[in-house]
Parts: sequence; C-alpha cells; structure tokens
Amino acid sequence: MTWLNTWKTAALVAALTVGAVDSATAAVLGQSPINITTSEVVFDPNFKELSFNYSSAASLTVKNINSPDVEGTIRGIPAAGSTLSFDGNTYDLKQFHFHIDSEHELNGTKFPMEIHFVNQKQGSSGTDDLLVVGRFIEVGAANTVLDPFFSGISSIPNPDNSFDLTNFDISALQPVEGWNFHYSGSLTTAPYTEGVNWNVFFGTPLYLSQTQIDEFAAAFPDGDFREVQALDGRIITTNVPTTNVPEIDPNSFGSAFALLASSLALVERRKLKGFGLVSVA
Ligand SMILES: [Zn+2]
Repeated sequence: MTWLNTWKTAALVAALTVGAVDSATAAVLGQSPINITTSEVVFDPNFKELSFNYSSAASLTVKNINSPDVEGTIRGIPAAGSTLSFDGNTYDLKQFHFHIDSEHELNGTKFPMEIHFVNQKQGSSGTDDLLVVGRFIEVGAANTVLDPFFSGISSIPNPDNSFDLTNFDISALQPVEGWNFHYSGSLTTAPYTEGVNWNVFFGTPLYLSQTQIDEFAAAFPDGDFREVQALDGRIITTNVPTTNVPEIDPNSFGSAFALLASSLALVERRKLKGFGLVSVA
C-alpha cells in the first residue's frame, strides 16, 4: 500500500499547493492501451458513471480503415443522435471499431477482441475532449446485431470501401452496468494524442461467435492492436469496491481527488489543442 499512500500525499500536496497542480498532473498523462492490474486500481466512492443514450435504430456506415495495416480497423460510423452523458456534459458517439486481439489487458491477460466507442464532447472538434469506452469481447454465441456488420467485411476489402446499414441497434453493444476502470490515456493509433478519457468495462463481455471473429481476422491477419504501454504512475480508478481494491477515504481525500481530477481535465484540454483529427482508433 506504500504506493497508494505516496500517491495520496502527492495528490493532496498537488491540490493544496498553488502552482503544483500542473506539474503533478502532467506526470500522469500517458499512453494507451495499458494492462489493468485489479489489485492496484483505486476504488473511487465519487466515481462518475457514464449514462448511455445510444440509438437502437441507427443508420450506420461500415468502413474499412486501412486493412490489413495493424493500425487499421473496421469502423461503424453512425448518423447523429447517439450520445452519452458524463460529469454533466453530453458526448456524441462519433464511431465505434474493433481490435483483434484486445488492446487492454486485465491482469496481464488479453481477450480475443475489444470494441471501442469513440465519443466527443458536444461543441469540441479535432481530438479535443474525447471519451473512449472499451469493452472486452469473448467467444460465444453469434451476435445477431453485429451479423450484417461482420458478414459484410469481405465485401469491403480495400481501404475506404464502405457499405451502409439501417436500423442498427448500437445500444445492444454498449456496456451494461458493471465494473468500469477509468484512467487518462491516449489514442492507440497515430497521432497517439494524450488526454483521452478512457473507460474500460469489465464484467459482462460482448460475445461474438468464432465465425464472426474469423470474419474480422481475415481483414487483419496480423492483428490490429497496439502493445500495452507503461502506466508511469497513472492511477486507475474503479466504481466497484472489492477486497482487492484499495479505497480512497472520501472524508480525507475525496475533495483533493476531485480537485486533482478537474485540474487534470484542464491540462488535458490545453495539451490537445493543435492536433488534427488524423485517426481515432
Ligand atoms: Zn481503438
């Protein structure tokens, strides 16, 4: 627990010392994906939950993004109207896409695939104010919602090829209530912009059949995931208290943590200015 006490002290000092916040928070910016070690994540009793309002009948463009490049993917781009709420702000779902194998690891273990939902705060542009939701994918029954998506991949073999779907139920793919890990990370493809608000859900995975996974793998025979990156002192917070998860004492540290978090958000917004939206995967 030494690391936690050290962090608590640093957070408190950062929150209470004028001028120290920027240098303290700059140190916690970093890259994605990461390995999530559940014994080292911190339970935050003031965890800010996401509230999804994704469409159940969206018009969707399915687009080949640079297959078979390892930084490529197959992207679902919905018509406007799918949103989520976080910390009093509304975010638009810009696109969702897949990685094979998973990018994040849980206690050093990869999952067969991972889905990412890329959301952006309304009114922001470029790579400002991104919030990415990750959900692990496991092998199971065929996903009927995703059947037209995955079975159509072979019809878009080249970069920028696309096809359209209607009445697509995005809400059926979103994470269900459950164990969520929150941290500040980056895009996992160029330009690797930092300051991305990451929420990685574990608990109830999304299931795809092996056939569906193979349909995606055919477009990316070498995979399309980035290796895990160093945590570099970043704190991963979670919404579910467990015996393995050290708890932040809300009376002693809750306000300091909230101040640190809001300061971090300011630093992130500042650092993100000037980047163009080259690729968000
Ligand atoms: Zn991604």
